[in-house]
Amino acid sequence: MHKRLYPISERRIGEKCGIFGVYGVGKETARIVYFGLWALQHRGQESSGIASSDQQKIKVVKGAGLVAHVFKEKDFNFLEGDMAIGHNRYSTSMGTGYEHAQPVLSSKGLLTLAHNGNLPSTRLLESFLSDTGIETKNLNDSEMMHAALEHWLKKGIDIEDAVKNCLPLFTGAFSLLLMTKDKMVAVRDCCGIRPLSVGKLNGGYVFSSETCALDAVTATFLREVLPGEMVVADRRGLTSCMLADSQQKLDIFEFVYFARPDSQILGQRVGVVRKNFGRELALENPINADVVIPVPDSALPAASGYAETLSIHYEPACFVKNRYIHRTFIEPGEKLREIDVDIKLNVIPEFVEGKRVVLVDDSIVRGTTSQAIVAKIRRAGAKEVHFLVSSPPVKFPDFYGIDTREQNTLIASKMPVDGIARFIGADSLYYLSYRGMIKATGLPEEVFCASCFTGEYPIDIEEHTNEVSYNFERASDRFVTIPLYGQKGLLPSG
Ligand code: 5GP
Ligand code: MG
Repeated sequence: MHKRLYPISERRIGEKCGIFGVYGVGKETARIVYFGLWALQHRGQESSGIASSDQQKIKVVKGAGLVAHVFKEKDFNFLEGDMAIGHNRYSTSMGTGYEHAQPVLSSKGLLTLAHNGNLPSTRLLESFLSDTGIETKNLNDSEMMHAALEHWLKKGIDIEDAVKNCLPLFTGAFSLLLMTKDKMVAVRDCCGIRPLSVGKLNGGYVFSSETCALDAVTATFLREVLPGEMVVADRRGLTSCMLADSQQKLDIFEFVYFARPDSQILGQRVGVVRKNFGRELALENPINADVVIPVPDSALPAASGYAETLSIHYEPACFVKNRYIHRTFIEPGEKLREIDVDIKLNVIPEFVEGKRVVLVDDSIVRGTTSQAIVAKIRRAGAKEVHFLVSSPPVKFPDFYGIDTREQNTLIASKMPVDGIARFIGADSLYYLSYRGMIKATGLPEEVFCASCFTGEYPIDIEEHTNEVSYNFERASDRFVTIPLYGQKGLLPSG
């Protein structure tokens, strides 16, 4: 029988991340990766790393913290060669950012790996590795993938065949960048849950989680790596092969919150889709208000779409966000977490005093930030605060690489919309409907994984199945929003 070696929360580490690779571009390869990672900083801030190869030896530099703090000038002399991959990691658990920092590189040094995504089940990988005598106790999902691939390389099998051999063991979501001494390989799971694109630069190739980082290094976007596809960059140029039957199921949360608005995914500009979310939200839930205010930063496009559609004054400058602090530097304990919002955001009271305010945010997860934000707007003198969310209620945990919480921390899994409104202290609360969200993307419903909204998981979540509860009315707010009027007298104290 399989025995779980760690509590689930500890196992679920290589979370929502950013990956970037450069092959055959010429000089300063590691530095190009550095700038690419910088443009992907929003995908992970816990640790960062770059691995390079000069055809002889793979070297890596990695550390805890932001890209700008991890790498020193001397690292770019050390990271020789004209191929390199990099990784930004986000994780919710485990104190130090360093221990599981990527790219993964073992002492054998045959392969380095950068992973975005998460394997909900590592059962097959664990038993394969145990059978081959590899200790899995201290390895996370990404490190196990690396160990399995390197096992085949050690036997003299080339990386393409190693990937083919291991694919059945990789049961979950992965966008991977792999690098041997002389090849770079990009692979995406058969659902393409996490994004991955390829571009061209100076006769070489660039791989990136998001196209915003291709722009940052002036690479030309070629196309997305397809779900189930393996793309190889080596001396022959770029070659591709389909490894498995595939069906595109991009995590729609990339459009809702995660990706940068200037990135393009599935042919759609993320910021434009977010503006459409706001337009749909306005058509579904028009509010009679004096001013529309976005919660920075991810709700800016949606709020502008909302305000524009209803011709309400839009005030993006109401919240002033401090851009120079980060979780990496303040590890807020329970007590500090409460003032977290105050450190990060301040309000210009003159913009809301005596006004009927519409606050737009991209999502409500636990509800605690939203509660603090509503309270701030109240204290600044708003007459009414209406909270509008540019996505449906997040009711289900994520197993594919988003900073997931246990389901019982998701406020929408615990109470209906009016209860949430009361909890966050808003006069009314409206969510974008599931259908409105899909419509706003301009893409067919089938291309998305919307598991955090629907509880439908396109890749089997195996041993986690019993962690998901459907024990509440499910259809109700997938398709309709529940209007709520007159929730007065709910001002949070203080
Ligand atoms: P809540 O009110 O649920 O505490 O916080 C809602 C806020 O969390 C929203 O502004 C949304 O942008 C943000 N958010 C949504 N998903 C994530 C996530 O995966 N990680 C982090 N750090 N913030 C998120
Ligand atoms: Mg936000």
